[in-house]
Amino acid sequence: MLKIYDDSSKTLHEICDNVSLPLSKEDEVVLLKMLDYLKKSQDEEYAEKHHMRSGVGLAAPQIGIKKRMFVIYYQDENNEIIQYALVNPKIIANSTKLCALEGGEGCLSVNEDKKGFVYRYYKITMKAFDLLKNKEITFTATGYKAIVLQHELDHLNGILYYDRINKNNPFERKNNSELI
Ligand SMILES: [Zn+2]
Repeated sequence: MLKIYDDSSKTLHEICDNVSLPLSKEDEVVLLKMLDYLKKSQDEEYAEKHHMRSGVGLAAPQIGIKKRMFVIYYQDENNEIIQYALVNPKIIANSTKLCALEGGEGCLSVNEDKKGFVYRYYKITMKAFDLLKNKEITFTATGYKAIVLQHELDHLNGILYYDRINKNNPFERKNNSELI
């Protein structure tokens, strides 16, 4: 079982290093283990037995590895499985429109949820190497999916979601934004 580091860990506040491609066997194994962790975390019985919190994304620094890679796994509202194992991800385009989760964000590395809106781009285009497709991909995401991707990308830059909450006005409503 992977050990998840919390936000008292230095690695979670550092900028991660680029990963060399083609991917090493070691990095491949790490990504697949991370993906497996997310799947298991969403199996209620298994998660309860192993004291795991349910998560939809996990970045390498959260398991103590300072590398630019993360995984995402969840089922969307159309029951479609959304899954990625991304290496060296970059946002290459973004909307000016912003969005935030109405109920706020959570993180496997933050033990107590911090309340407030975390504004992110409503729409992004991301470019990355995806181990699950074994090639470089460029794709567009909106709404919840865009939020999850930006949350994970932030981890690679040492940023936690609560760093983006306005401390003086955590529930401020921004212009040109949507709560989802
Ligand atoms: Zn997180």
